[in-house]
Amino acid sequence: MDLRRRPSNPVRSTPLGEPTLNRNQQLSLPPYATNAVFFTFFFSVAYFLLHRSRDKIRTSTPLHFLTPSEVAAILSLFASFLYLITFFGISFIFHNSTSATRRTSSDYQDNTDLAGSAKPNQEPVNSNDEEIVNSVVSGSIPSYSLESKLGDCNRAAVIRRTAVERVTKRSLEGLPVEGFDYESIFGQSCEMPIGFVQIPVGVAGPLLLDGKEYTVPMSTTEGCLVASTNRGCKAIYVSGGASSVVLRDGMTRAPVVRFGSAKRAAQLKLYLENHDNFDSLSVVFNKSSRFARLQSIKPAIAGKNLYIRFSCSTGDAMGMNMVSKGVQNVLDFLHSNFPDMDVIGISGNYCSDKKAAAVNWIEGRGKSVVCEAVIKEEVVKKVLKTSVEALVELNMLKNLTGSAIAGALGGFNAHASNIVSAIYLATGQDPAQNVESSHCITMMEAVNDGKDIHISVTMPSIEVGTVGGGTQLASQSACLNLLGVKGASKDSPGANSRQLATIVAGSVLAGELSLMSAISAGQLVKSHMKYNRSSRDIDKNVSWHPLKRKSRPMWGTPF
Ligand code: ADP
Repeated sequence: MDLRRRPSNPVRSTPLGEPTLNRNQQLSLPPYATNAVFFTFFFSVAYFLLHRSRDKIRTSTPLHFLTPSEVAAILSLFASFLYLITFFGISFIFHNSTSATRRTSSDYQDNTDLAGSAKPNQEPVNSNDEEIVNSVVSGSIPSYSLESKLGDCNRAAVIRRTAVERVTKRSLEGLPVEGFDYESIFGQSCEMPIGFVQIPVGVAGPLLLDGKEYTVPMSTTEGCLVASTNRGCKAIYVSGGASSVVLRDGMTRAPVVRFGSAKRAAQLKLYLENHDNFDSLSVVFNKSSRFARLQSIKPAIAGKNLYIRFSCSTGDAMGMNMVSKGVQNVLDFLHSNFPDMDVIGISGNYCSDKKAAAVNWIEGRGKSVVCEAVIKEEVVKKVLKTSVEALVELNMLKNLTGSAIAGALGGFNAHASNIVSAIYLATGQDPAQNVESSHCITMMEAVNDGKDIHISVTMPSIEVGTVGGGTQLASQSACLNLLGVKGASKDSPGANSRQLATIVAGSVLAGELSLMSAISAGQLVKSHMKYNRSSRDIDKNVSWHPLKRKSRPMWGTPF
């Protein structure tokens, strides 16, 4: 982000175009130390001159007869006086001009939200940082370079935030900046931070899955979601629990390469499909990490272009970095046999990452999991307040037929993405992968002479990890710890991330059960009115205007 908006502060540049540092930054001593030195110097020289003039009066020497040391003293007095007056004078002007800007910026209030609650933030910058803020505002220090220039990520975030408020004339009040470890995200999770958004974490459970009990952390701002999943967990628990199977575990990446002819592209396709070549390609691929193990190579051709879908196991990491490194190794290796191969991109969208694509729905990506439970008739009646018959019918007409009518791709469920997103946010997964991770088909069938219900969720592309990415951040790591899957598995690499994938599927099962029950019993409207509607009178704070007033949807979720 370029914060340069005010050209009024001319920026001095070195011949290399590097902005020069301002006075405080040029001094190797902190400002209070240099001030102390100049104060001491000023008063010592003044004392020396007074002392000399007293001597001259006593010996009747004319005052204007100056010795070289007196001349030097007068010059030093003048210089130190100039330094002090400039330093404090400029600080004074800066202070006054910025407060004047704030005072006269009635646009601060005009430009903030309609509720009028947003006022200029209490800027937590101290006077030393004030000059750096001004340099960022004027553009002489690029905002992105604050961390490396200051060597202090927390201070950089505070300074950047203040600069953003001043440039945009928008208040960030309500967005906390203190209380977060910005060192922990530097260079890996988020660039140019100015604070952090708070999302509450609730818990659902115990989820009884594969004989283990889990308390599932869910981060959401949607009322009803945690409560509903919790009810599903209860129904599963009292029915004896759910069970799951991980069907496959492999992250994918598909580069696109181009040749001069379709014939050459086809030759590479045949080479990659030849089993005799797989072992040598695996050796090259697996050098990327001790956890990366090549599983398969699936090429697809489009004229002169070849899309090569590599799949590999990645231990407890979600694995995007790992698989990309392996793919790069193989592409480098292939160049010796196919020197005319032009690598267009390391990702050619046949992977397919963060986009709804049939390839993930059919072939799977990350962990493919199926999870099932039999819910007893009595539980369906007492806990879920519906009937087996109504649930089975609704599932057929909504999740299967309705989604088919809508032309859904992997969306044969009621709200899998609600649960997936909430767990992903809480446990530091990549929330953008919610797209394919939420692919799910929910099946319901009456069993045991039609008394009980068998429910299952099949999710082919759950992309999760327990190491790397956002999983190592303090809050997210605490949530993984709550589930007992924090970090790398000591027993067997990949066991923690696979377990997390089963927990995601088990929680989706609970969520599907509860929401489908609410819909079949006609409770959805009632519960949302109670839990998902703000009881605060939002309109009270908003100056009402018939044209500006937005109609608010009744539901937080398009169930
Ligand atoms: P991703 O590939 O999901 O983006 P990263 O590459 O950022 O993840 O993180 C994985 C890192 O964690 C690698 O450096 C890897 O060597 C290390 N690591 C340590 N233990 C494990 C484990 N059990 N499984 C996978 N990676 C592990």
